[in-house]
Amino acid sequence: MIKKTLSDVDSSALCGRTVIVRADLNVPLEDGEISDGQRIQASLPTLTELAGAGARVVLLSHLGRPKGQVNPELSLEPVARRLAESLGHPVSFIPFTHGGKASAPVANLPEGSVVLLENTRFVPGETANDSELAESWAELGDLFVNDAFGTAHRAHASTAGLAAAMRAKGGEAIAGHLMAQELQFLEEVLRVPERPFVAIIGGAKISSKIGVISSLLPRVDRLLIGGAMANTFFRALGLDTGDSLVEEDSLDTARELIEQGGESLVLPVDCIVADELSNDADVRAVLRHEVSGRDKILDVGPETRERFTDMIRGARSIVWNGPMGVFEIDAFAQGTIDVAHAVADACDGGALGVLGGGDSAAAADRAGVVERLTHVSTGGGASLELLAGARLPGVEALTDLN
Ligand code: ADP
Ligand code: MG
Repeated sequence: MIKKTLSDVDSSALCGRTVIVRADLNVPLEDGEISDGQRIQASLPTLTELAGAGARVVLLSHLGRPKGQVNPELSLEPVARRLAESLGHPVSFIPFTHGGKASAPVANLPEGSVVLLENTRFVPGETANDSELAESWAELGDLFVNDAFGTAHRAHASTAGLAAAMRAKGGEAIAGHLMAQELQFLEEVLRVPERPFVAIIGGAKISSKIGVISSLLPRVDRLLIGGAMANTFFRALGLDTGDSLVEEDSLDTARELIEQGGESLVLPVDCIVADELSNDADVRAVLRHEVSGRDKILDVGPETRERFTDMIRGARSIVWNGPMGVFEIDAFAQGTIDVAHAVADACDGGALGVLGGGDSAAAADRAGVVERLTHVSTGGGASLELLAGARLPGVEALTDLN
């Protein structure tokens, strides 16, 4: 079912209305400072439109994992300051999550103002999807805009709960611009993909991505496997993986996927190995059956890089999740960097290229290709669930477009 979005609302209908927006302002903090403002940046289009149209915007977000308790280190106050700078518009911070102290200042807001309430996860009812908490937020206004794609795979009080409460009282719950964009690209790449359709899956753990691999396998022309999860497939093939990371519990699953995938499942043919995770290690490129002893497989090898990038450059639709190696260390970053450039080249040539996953997004940033990709998802877990064909509770609860 297609959901109603902010683009479906005439902006003249927003003036003077109190709109509750759930954004994902869950930014990384280092020593109390915001170390990466990408999520703040991504929330701007929705807020700019609402404030510009004269709505009274009441903004909700979580930050970190305070586990239902007030934790001053996870206050959204510094986020409000950074948001105001990015927005070029004042953002008042209200140091309360809900209840009378939060609702009183909301009652008399001027048109076009933006206020941010305190971290939703300071209240235990948030992650428990408490309906009274959701209702108290719904009482603040008459339109709910959910723009928090990064938490859409969880049914929390400020996401799915608030949407249900708003609709129960006769209001609407719609998707914000970021949410709509994420859904559009992640669903479009799967709906009727232009072929060849190539998926690239890497990263540390096969167990966290089994759902995506088995869901994508029948839909894609090629599914390229890299990163530590390739090691588990090597072991499933009976190869020696030396001292590499392997998930013993997933060997049977890997065998099934190899069987199910046939020619579509493409594993690395060679690897970069070293005896330790360091740039100073003794680093060698070996064929995959030559790995032994104290070798740790830490990247895909040169022959694999060539095969993978050829397939990627020939693709018309690409989904990428997970680095090809330990890209954080230069000696083991080449596979990931080459893949990033190949995906960007394909996109330059008109292919649809979608990237998901926090570490992969950091790798693409490091390779300097982010701007050239069709879409870089802001939601790791949520994008994986969507690609695996799951429905997201934060989206399901929204008003249908009719
Ligand atoms: P994403 O966040 O993009 O979904 P993951 O979290 O699944 O990606 O995996 C990223 C991590 O996997 C990185 O920290 C990277 O160092 C690690 N990794 C990739 N390849 C290997 C490998 N061969 N051995 C150990 N760790 C690896
Ligand atoms: Mg990660």
